[in-house]
Amino acid sequence: MKLSFHGANRDVTGSCHLLEVQGKRILIDCGLYQGGRELDEENAEDFGFDPSSIDMLLLTHAHLDHCGRIPLLVKRGFTGEIVTASATRELTRVVLLDSAHLQEEEAERHARQAHRHGHRPREALYGTLDALNAMDQFGRAVTYGETLELAPNLTATFYDAGHILGSASIRIEETDGKRRSIIFSGDLGNKGRPILRDPQIPPHADTVVMETTYGDRQHKALGPSIDEFYTAITETFARGGNVIVPTFALERAQEVLYHLRAGIEAGRLPHNLPVFLDSPMAISATEIFRRHPECYDAEARDLFDHGHDPFALPALRFVRETADSIALNRLVGGAVIMAGSGMCTGGRVRHHLRHNLWRKESSVVFVGFAAPGTLARILIDGAKRVKLFGEEIPVRAHLYTINGFSAHADQEELLAWHGALKPARTILVHGEEKAMRTFAGLLTDTQVSMPQKGDEMTL
Ligand SMILES: [Zn+2]
Repeated sequence: MKLSFHGANRDVTGSCHLLEVQGKRILIDCGLYQGGRELDEENAEDFGFDPSSIDMLLLTHAHLDHCGRIPLLVKRGFTGEIVTASATRELTRVVLLDSAHLQEEEAERHARQAHRHGHRPREALYGTLDALNAMDQFGRAVTYGETLELAPNLTATFYDAGHILGSASIRIEETDGKRRSIIFSGDLGNKGRPILRDPQIPPHADTVVMETTYGDRQHKALGPSIDEFYTAITETFARGGNVIVPTFALERAQEVLYHLRAGIEAGRLPHNLPVFLDSPMAISATEIFRRHPECYDAEARDLFDHGHDPFALPALRFVRETADSIALNRLVGGAVIMAGSGMCTGGRVRHHLRHNLWRKESSVVFVGFAAPGTLARILIDGAKRVKLFGEEIPVRAHLYTINGFSAHADQEELLAWHGALKPARTILVHGEEKAMRTFAGLLTDTQVSMPQKGDEMTL
């Protein structure tokens, strides 16, 4: 076995690992680097291998930092099969089409600028057609626990990673005399969250390639975070304002709907709570969630089996059309408006912020991670005024930051997962260097490495 690293090395985005085994070249994930303009160039660079030489791609889950460079891989010559869970295939389609659209918009904006300055315009990383072509290469859809033959003497098994719908850890095994094995953790979920099951522990493997996003931190408990969320809504309604929830379309939006439904059923929120899901991508993702009860945990499955929709609220409105989204600006109070993007870097949420941030009655409830430099982070850090659509807006709304909704395992959970596997060799990826070093310091009885991009190792 030979392993090389082409992304998410001492970093949390751009996941891409190449495994050479039994004469096959297998890619695990092909994600986009995310977080700033300078990364556009990194995304456009050579992959570090020839895409046409890759036999197949195994995809752990549908987050952009794991699947976002697939259309580029196909555009540059990859013709092999893409293998993933069926929920992941459906979510990836939505994610890649959205990403292609953003890439095209960005390229158009850049072309206008370049034209004004007499520069050469930059080509879009990929477009809608490339995303559609990539979708044509999705082959076998796997179910958790099913063992697939990748080649003679080579199998792969997907295990539930409990991170987002369809997410998987992948165990690859050589089935000839050597029986060597390796596990790619993918992103591991946080235990006890709604909808999804807790991460599954795959059988032992010699080598584990694992994520370390929260390798240096423990999460707050979920229960108090749900209480804070309900309190934020109740207080805001009492003041006569709206609740704006900047929402990630995938997983977080569905989790928030699930908590709102549970709050209404428990009598902690008003029965006819008006909720607007103002995000075409989140609406599509919610519909995909409804089609995949096989991924639910016992509680969500029980609701589903008894004919209840885990994401349905008495007064939930899906807002797809732009005109309907604009109409929400007329609501002065008593509405929960969920809109993307989650970090307020673009999308419809910026319009809702423009209409609500200046009002002391309204509130903004942050339920997810906010990277440095994003509008969400600037607000969380206490800015008194922000610029939106060229206009200075004073920040008078109440801001609530709810930290307990993480989709990632924390340090204790990562340690328990690793401890159960007892690998001889551990390769840490998908983490900031500080988190990774802290986590490495806690591992015993295993040889630990933290590869850099471009590194190769023989196992
Ligand atoms: Zn992820």
